[in-house]
Amino acid sequence: MSKKLTIALAGNPNSGKTTVFNNLTGARQHVGNYPGVTVEKKEGTLRYRDYEINVVDLPGIYSLTAYSIDELVARNFVVEEKPDVVIDIIDSSNLERNLYLATQFMELGVPLVLAFNMYDLAQKQGVNVDKNRLSQLLGCPIVFTVATKKQGMDELLNEAINLAEGETKLKRTTVGYGREIEEEVRKIEEVLLKDRSLMQKYPSRWLAVKSLENDTEVIKEVKENVYSGEILGQVERSAKHLEGIFGDSLEAIIADRRYGFISGACSETVRKTYEVRHTISDKIDKILVNRILGLPIFLGLMWLVFKFTFKLSEPLMGWVEAGQEALGNLFSGMLPEGSALQSLVVDGIIGGVGSVLVFVPIIFLLFLAIAVLEDSGYMARAAFIMDRLMHKIGLHGRSFIPMLLGFGCNLPAIMATRTIEDRRDRLVTILVNPFISCGARLPVYALFIGAFFPQEKAGSVLFSLYLLGMAVAILMAKLFRKYLFKGEASPFVMELPPYRIPTIKGLFIHMWERGVVYLKKAGTIIFFGCILIWFLSNFPWNPRYSKDYDALIQQAQVNEQLVVQLESEKAFEKLEKSYAGKLGRTIAPIFKPLGFGDWKISVGLVGGFVAKEIVVGTLGTLYSVGEADEESESLRQILQEERRPDGNKLYSPLVAYALMVFVLLYMPCVATIAVIKRETNSWKWPFFAAFYTTAIAWIIAFVVYQGGRLVGLGI
Ligand code: GDP
Ligand code: MG
Repeated sequence: MSKKLTIALAGNPNSGKTTVFNNLTGARQHVGNYPGVTVEKKEGTLRYRDYEINVVDLPGIYSLTAYSIDELVARNFVVEEKPDVVIDIIDSSNLERNLYLATQFMELGVPLVLAFNMYDLAQKQGVNVDKNRLSQLLGCPIVFTVATKKQGMDELLNEAINLAEGETKLKRTTVGYGREIEEEVRKIEEVLLKDRSLMQKYPSRWLAVKSLENDTEVIKEVKENVYSGEILGQVERSAKHLEGIFGDSLEAIIADRRYGFISGACSETVRKTYEVRHTISDKIDKILVNRILGLPIFLGLMWLVFKFTFKLSEPLMGWVEAGQEALGNLFSGMLPEGSALQSLVVDGIIGGVGSVLVFVPIIFLLFLAIAVLEDSGYMARAAFIMDRLMHKIGLHGRSFIPMLLGFGCNLPAIMATRTIEDRRDRLVTILVNPFISCGARLPVYALFIGAFFPQEKAGSVLFSLYLLGMAVAILMAKLFRKYLFKGEASPFVMELPPYRIPTIKGLFIHMWERGVVYLKKAGTIIFFGCILIWFLSNFPWNPRYSKDYDALIQQAQVNEQLVVQLESEKAFEKLEKSYAGKLGRTIAPIFKPLGFGDWKISVGLVGGFVAKEIVVGTLGTLYSVGEADEESESLRQILQEERRPDGNKLYSPLVAYALMVFVLLYMPCVATIAVIKRETNSWKWPFFAAFYTTAIAWIIAFVVYQGGRLVGLGI
């Protein structure tokens, strides 16, 4: 008994389908029509090994849209007749364009073998394909063929049979459409899943993408179903949202992403000795994704981003500071002098939350700059460059995309690791993500860089911190991969979508989406955090003082200077005897070897576990509590003047830097810990993450501070 198989031959017109078809079937052909249309249907049979194979030569097409009758016929044949294998015949001398159809078959989830036909022409043009690597990236077997010379026909049949018999060990991949589109696709899929009958026929992802592309046939089919209202409503909302962001038709955007996927896969695997690429994006990429120049250009661009955000935000921050001061004075006058309520509102809330809000301009500007890089298509290049670098050290570039998201906030970044199929890759990416410096750490840097480094160095100092975070993340990932989670990384295509000019609306939406998280946090978790810190630093309200200050102040009445001195001594002693003072003093010795063993910053670092901005909020509260005179200075000025018990200045640039390094690397905030718990579904990993990051932070800050002292960089 011979086994029966059906193979469909698909491909662009003139890719050599008919030649392959004739090679395979010889004279055993017959010509008919597809039902209901006048498109010619060529079928033939052959015997190979112990198989009886039915071969269908589909009409030549460029895509699987519903625009042309040929495309529809080919698509319906594949969907309805479900051939055991589709062989996509590809003109290798025009690879990227021909692969477009292949990406659509991949999306449709059909069993697919790629015949890289006309390989003789391709080689004449100097094209060389790394077949194994590319077939891994695409998740389909590839066979080089020269149909006119009957080369590769047996191999083609063997691969087709292997695939049909489930013996092919390649993992399927599919085009990624980027964060925004993926999110909408997911929403549409959720509604689609309710519709059993549709789901039996098509993969949900394919339907979702097609409906976003406004494919008339798909829309028509959806309309015939029970849930059509709900589905089409979601599609319309999603399409509107996306077109608002991209400012272009979704069809064009989606096609761009497919080409981006192809371009990414080919950049890694296809070498051209003669230059035959010519689009504008390709020309730009020749420089920006260049093997040698790519990384320095990426680093240079990031440096510029930091430099400009710092410079542009400086005056804006001044305005917010002035507003905070005015508000503080206003409430100070309105509320009863010396009351707990006045202290709570002015010192606790305005001092604490305000000192965090001061950094809103720098955060929004940084997110704006990142949005420009993302929307223009450059970030995809950055990921591509990093991917290449990370391959070299045995890691996977796929992990880099969540890392880029980590610049905004580690929460969405960790959730984005869901796209990583390999469990080990995913865990590693989750565990190192907290080292990527999120927006919440920016206020801490902005405060200390502003206070202890000259303006012209600010951008570089900030840049160095971000780089350090990335370096530690990559290094730890490497170590984890080597010792904790051993094994090969799975293949993944880094998309290279074409460059485009970002729309103003898109930029603002992206900036706002990320920045607003910060504002919301200031209104909720930071607000309560600051109230807590205020409470800890004000109670006991009337501690047992070492001197009877009130009596002494009464006596000194005429001597104004003495009164001021006594008052500030009293405030200081009260703070020292508060719960916060005790807490800070208990843990300060841990930080002594790092240069900042002061109790106030120690309290701040504990608070930073709730949210990293609270480090700044705490200092804001503590210093406005401790401030006895009415003349309020900016927190930066106060920190510059802060002294140790021995009279020396507490912070030098070196101490400030060690502190920033510690804040960069130590324990992720409580929300991140919770997300790690959720995503790994165990308590083991969040605990591990909290512990090992803090240990590493301590070690590196120690090395920075003590090393800096050794080479004479400061005290
Ligand atoms: P179809 O439109 O996909 O059916 O393509 P055809 O089979 O009709 O082939 C188009 C042209 O390409 C014909 O002139 C073939 O002789 C030629 N051709 C097909 N395969 C190859 C190949 O592997 N190498 C070269 N050099 N020419 C080929
Ligand atoms: Mg033909």
